[in-house]
Amino acid sequence: MSEGVIVKGDVTRDALSEGPPLSSSMLNALEHDLNTLTRAGLRRKLRSVTQRRGAEIVVDGKATVDFSSNDYLGLAGDPRLADAAAEFLKKEQTGAAAARLISGNSPVHTNVERALAEFKHTEAALLFASGYMANLGTIPALVGKRDVIYSDALNHASLLDATKLSRAEVRVFPHLDLAALRQMLNEDTGKFRRRLIVVDGVFSMDGDLFPLDKLVPLAREFDAWTYVDDAHGTAVLGPNGRGSVEHFGVEGEIDVIMGTLGKALGSAGAFIAGSATLIEYLLHRARAFVYTTSSPPVLAAVTLRALEIVAQEPWRREQLWKNARMVRAGLAEMGREAPGEADAYIVPVMIGSVEETVRVGNELREAGYLVGAVRPPTVPLGTSRLRITVCSAHTEQHIEGLLDTLRKVLR
Ligand SMILES: *Cc1c(COP(=O)(O)O)cnc(C)c1O
Repeated sequence: MSEGVIVKGDVTRDALSEGPPLSSSMLNALEHDLNTLTRAGLRRKLRSVTQRRGAEIVVDGKATVDFSSNDYLGLAGDPRLADAAAEFLKKEQTGAAAARLISGNSPVHTNVERALAEFKHTEAALLFASGYMANLGTIPALVGKRDVIYSDALNHASLLDATKLSRAEVRVFPHLDLAALRQMLNEDTGKFRRRLIVVDGVFSMDGDLFPLDKLVPLAREFDAWTYVDDAHGTAVLGPNGRGSVEHFGVEGEIDVIMGTLGKALGSAGAFIAGSATLIEYLLHRARAFVYTTSSPPVLAAVTLRALEIVAQEPWRREQLWKNARMVRAGLAEMGREAPGEADAYIVPVMIGSVEETVRVGNELREAGYLVGAVRPPTVPLGTSRLRITVCSAHTEQHIEGLLDTLRKVLR
């Protein structure tokens, strides 16, 4: 693995902790590690968030505009989704009571899988409890000891964990570097049984896209399989919101697509979409599918409603692009141009040090704006940043207010 990835995963442990005394009680050892986090400014705490209406939320009792969620289309607090849940629960159970393959499968699960396959233009789809579980279940089902995974250096943590769990060889290529990937594929020719290229469709920290149109021919040339984690692209990218695969015009050409339901779709859970054979295989082989209780069927009912809304209200995506352009233009004006496309809705503002990032985050929150203050181990040491996420529910007033406050608090 490249150094970048080691730093990304283990910075607090390796770089900051001198390690607890050899034999100490569990409490001592854990408190030692927690104190190390505190000294490094990396101690986190849970905030209480209530009353989500569009982008407006109440954080620890204070009215706040949320610029930190993944609720890109403003659906998480949409009363129509709450109504769908309430309707469903009048007639049906809350708990699924068993795994899907035992007695936990309900018609609404099957319906939503059909709808998701249709939405993604694939033959079939399979639900998982979350995106994390979908990755953890699927990648180790596809590749193992005699195989190799090629992984972008900025892939999501759940993909890293999945590659480790698979016990396949892992080759990390520099972010978006197709030439480096080509070289690795070339050098490995004939050495492995299966080869899987794993990438994020939209990278969760910088909002940039993997060029899938270039990936497809490369994978084909070297007989490698392709896996795209489209957590942040699903329901957002592409003319119909079908995701990064539609955006790049490669529908039907990616072997495995993972999409999440808890981001733009305002529900919860995730799915794998692909060929009927792939889905049938995962039904038997993905341990995170087989050995876990089915997600509550009400979530499937909510997802079905969300898919309808996404199809009926394309203006939400238009508004999202417009809002993203406005945020990015405002940042550029203050000399803080964010990397990425002009309408990319994940907007990083590089700061560098942990302390400064935390200070800016706190001052924004005091002014009524919640923005992600992203620190190690989520990003490498020295690259702490604000992560502004834009959503269709932001008004001009929300955005101008955020930009005004940023002008005041950024040094
Ligand atoms: C959020 C995210 C996941 C995990 O999805 P959950 O449903 O939240 O578990 C996986 N991959 C990427 C790229 C993500 O952004």
